[in-house]
Amino acid sequence: MDDAILIIGAGHAGGAAAALLRQNGHQGPITLVGAEPLPPYQHPPLSKGWLQGKVGVDELLLRPAEFYADKGIALRLGVRALAVDPVARRVALDDGTSIGFARLILATGSRLRRLEVRGAGLPGVFALRSVEDARRLRPALAPGARLAVIGGGFVGLEVAASARTLGAQVTVFEREPRLMPRVASAELAGHFAQLHCSRGVQIETSAELSALEPRDGQVGAVLLRDGRRFECDAVLAGIGALAEDALAAAAGIACEDGILVDACARTSHAGVYAIGDCTRRPVPRYGRSLRLESVPNALEQARQAAAHLCGKPVPQPEAPWFWSDQYDCRLQIAGIPFDVQRTVVRGDPASGKFSLFHLDAEGRLQAVEAVNAAQDFVAGRQLVGAAARPDPARIADPAVPARELASCGGS
Ligand SMILES: Cc1cc2nc3c(=O)[nH]c(=O)nc-3n(C[C@H](O)[C@H](O)[C@H](O)COP(=O)(O)OP(=O)(O)OC[C@H]3O[C@@H](n4cnc5c(N)ncnc54)[C@H](O)[C@@H]3O)c2cc1C
Repeated sequence: MDDAILIIGAGHAGGAAAALLRQNGHQGPITLVGAEPLPPYQHPPLSKGWLQGKVGVDELLLRPAEFYADKGIALRLGVRALAVDPVARRVALDDGTSIGFARLILATGSRLRRLEVRGAGLPGVFALRSVEDARRLRPALAPGARLAVIGGGFVGLEVAASARTLGAQVTVFEREPRLMPRVASAELAGHFAQLHCSRGVQIETSAELSALEPRDGQVGAVLLRDGRRFECDAVLAGIGALAEDALAAAAGIACEDGILVDACARTSHAGVYAIGDCTRRPVPRYGRSLRLESVPNALEQARQAAAHLCGKPVPQPEAPWFWSDQYDCRLQIAGIPFDVQRTVVRGDPASGKFSLFHLDAEGRLQAVEAVNAAQDFVAGRQLVGAAARPDPARIADPAVPARELASCGGS
């Protein structure tokens, strides 16, 4: 019992942490408690291949179900943790039992921001977080069905692309004047707006939702504040997520829009760690703490916690990175475009294969947004992590191989 590790949240971060603890040599008991009925699975295909029917449930799983038994990891699925007592070192579960622990990892992920307008609870209004959500949404994407997507971020646009691929008619409503306002540069957003329009998606920006109207007992129209009305058969709300930090906050663990952790994934309470979407973590490359909602972040923090718990060296922090697949476009982003003074384009956007290199006032590479340009992404990730100052003329010259950009910058 002195070495029992309990993980709350059997998602991407929690599942990875359990496996990494064993890989790093932890011999004691490991228990993984998850509210969902499935063993840890990947969310990214839910808006992409899975929604389009190209990926089955077994392919969603992070590891085969037998892996956990083989590694002596106890799975308690379909059970929700209700309260954490970090002093008595016990967690109360919603099946009436409780579990003790020596060390605790909170990996509770994020919860969807809900639409708060009249009609938001009508049948035919969907959200997408879990495989259950995806199962409910899928029939609404039949050929000819009119889908209104509220929110032009990654998830909204990926669902729009999947729905168009399945033959649905799609309108995307974004409150800000451009797509992807929180997650990408304006130049990149312009490219993706064109891409979606060319595939027949209608895009309405600066579109503030006022209400959802019923028709025959389910959602039938989107009403905007400017009075415009758009008929639809279904609505997908993709308006972002909030850190699922309530358990930690109620236990007196420091939270500030996310559970506060250090570079080893430790919370303010000794012996309690937190990883993944539920955290706010230091990002040394930009000298700030951020909430990152991505698989690479979940895996990086799982590696930090597992290494620290096993007394192994904690890996150096990475520059954040993300990806998104829409139609035949693979977008990969290294870094975050903070304090950008200059953007250098590499390749021809009209060809559908290009990258945007974002530099700050000192010429440091802050972020790279690569569209179907994996080599630029790989080189850019290295340069962003090193805070390098690559030569803009060489970046813009497609004759200079991407890997050579990495060797020509000083930091
Ligand atoms: C549709 C969709 C598409 C995405 N696409 C991408 C992508 O292309 N690239 C990318 O990098 N990221 C993508 N993401 C984000 C990525 O999936 C998340 O960042 C990642 O899953 C975070 O892992 P996590 O373990 O922190 O959270 P999750 O994987 O969400 O796992 C958290 C788990 O904790 C459980 N839980 C919460 N509270 C409790 C409790 N009290 N008791 C027990 N269990 C609890 C939840 O039920 C959930 O299963 C996507 C997300 C979605 C929803």
